[in-house]
Amino acid sequence: MATVKSVCVYCGSSSNVRESHRDAARELGSALAQAGLRLVYGGGQVGLMGLTAEAALAAGGMVTGIIPKFLNRHEIGHTRCTELIVSDNMHDRKYQMAAIADAFVVLPGGFGTLDETFEILTWKQLGLHDKPIVIADIDGYWALLLALMANQFKENYVRPEHRELFRVARDVAKILPILALEPEPRFSLKKNWL
Ligand code: AMP
Repeated sequence: MATVKSVCVYCGSSSNVRESHRDAARELGSALAQAGLRLVYGGGQVGLMGLTAEAALAAGGMVTGIIPKFLNRHEIGHTRCTELIVSDNMHDRKYQMAAIADAFVVLPGGFGTLDETFEILTWKQLGLHDKPIVIADIDGYWALLLALMANQFKENYVRPEHRELFRVARDVAKILPILALEPEPRFSLKKNWL
């Protein structure tokens, strides 16, 4: 069973999205706080990112936001985070998020969320880390992505054993139970390999 103390959440920065996705972000933020887990996220106040952080803080949770200095205005760094780290650049932000967290959860999001998801998946595929990854397929939002990935396996572009790189949760309530069943990572992020 994985010992998880902090969870990195990747999700959209858009606010103009379905209410069910906004609810999922709030529900996850609260669930993390209630479980005593630190939220690690991109540090913004906008979109599902902001809602997740707000809910975690409102429930008394610890929140570490990491935002690159060039985005600090655009995404508006969340001033009420327990800890707000302003990184030099996007690469360093993503590295720090991955290094600090014990597990990763992907909520609905846009291109940035996809970038972060595939980065963390490919780093795991390459053996750079061994931490659990859960894709939260809220309202089937990621169905087309999961279908594309199924085709990648079918066409032998991704090896069959790499199906085990990630799990899928159909709703927020299943995320923490799935994480609890994941094996203990054998190592954290290997920085000097990146
Ligand atoms: P999005 O899913 O596009 O709303 O973005 C979610 C998060 O990903 C935000 O914190 C963005 O700063 C970040 N992001 C956006 N574009 C990129 C990118 N090209 N590479 C890495 N992160 C990004």
